[in-house]
Amino acid sequence: MNTKVAARICREYIPDLVYDLIGEIYKACEGPDVKGKKVLLKPNILIDADPEKCISTHPVVVEAMARYLMNEGATVLIGDSPALHRNSFRGEKSGIADVCRRLGAEWADFNKKTVDISLRKGRIKMASVVNDVDLIISLPKLKTHELVYLTCAVKNTLGLVPGFHKAKQHAIHYDRERFAEFLVDLNEAVMPDFFLIDGIMGMEGPGPGQGMPVMTGVILGSTNPAAVDIIASLITGYDPMDIPTTAVAVRRGLWLKDTSDIIYDGPAPEIIKKKDFKKIPVTGNENIALKFIKKRIPLLRKFDKRPVFLHGNCTGCIECISICSSNALTMHKSVKNHVILKDSRCIRCFCCAEVCRYHAVEIRRKIFGI
Ligand code: SF4
Ligand code: SF4
Repeated sequence: MNTKVAARICREYIPDLVYDLIGEIYKACEGPDVKGKKVLLKPNILIDADPEKCISTHPVVVEAMARYLMNEGATVLIGDSPALHRNSFRGEKSGIADVCRRLGAEWADFNKKTVDISLRKGRIKMASVVNDVDLIISLPKLKTHELVYLTCAVKNTLGLVPGFHKAKQHAIHYDRERFAEFLVDLNEAVMPDFFLIDGIMGMEGPGPGQGMPVMTGVILGSTNPAAVDIIASLITGYDPMDIPTTAVAVRRGLWLKDTSDIIYDGPAPEIIKKKDFKKIPVTGNENIALKFIKKRIPLLRKFDKRPVFLHGNCTGCIECISICSSNALTMHKSVKNHVILKDSRCIRCFCCAEVCRYHAVEIRRKIFGI
């Protein structure tokens, strides 16, 4: 597989500059010919939020990529499906709906029609548009992620699974390693044809929904999800093999055998590395005996990182309760805006923290009620 990755420094969302850099990156990585093709652009719209919050792919990047493809002769559709996908969802707040209107690009509603796709193990529902287009171009945002540390190319493919079908996967693949295996399986089944990471402004700290915007100053592209994620890891200060999705892909020898296989075009990663980037600490694989004991001794489980609800910030929107596939959350019957966690049911997928727009869910150790 093509192992070319290109990176360009870019510190502002200036439409013409972003357009030119995307063109350079696409050519350097030998992106597929799009002339006469129907192309689905899949940004990361985790929650429909203001682009300033850096939760979603910036509309300037989405528009520049779409314009580039249209100028190369493609017909462009744009779509994504947040975990809480309402039927009217169009990406209004994140500015993607405006991009569609300006360019006359069709919005693809992933919830409208689904198809069953075979994975290594079992099957999964996916937006049927994946079978209606010739090419898929994935536009991830460079962000931290409580579960897989960094969410970039491999992780963004999960957005092709519509709405609540996504959240359910956390219950099925209930720990970091299993979830990473599943994400790689998904890319094996439906591999986007090109990945362009919006890292002009990224997210650090407790991502992907509640972290802090940070200038990472870079746009990255590749046809190879593992290769581009490796460069993104280096820029954010992670050892690439600490990112579970990358470790699984390299171990399987799927898209590259070793980090040294990457053919890189851009400034040296150590030059563009964001030195003080606030990472999610890597906890590593626990020893099997400890995992076994933790499952059986509830007291030890309490020392795990888990969702902690900040009731003072809670608006009572119940989005966390709707997304929890383990039914571990309820609203207090008499105390207003007070979410209760039934810890024994919680699988630590952290979807509740992802969807909370009010900074009312922290992921941390809670000891002695604090
Ligand atoms: S914790 Fe957040 S998502 Fe849950 S009800 Fe409160 S504000 Fe809504
Ligand atoms: S409470 Fe939060 S972390 Fe626990 S299972 Fe539910 S959504 Fe996942």
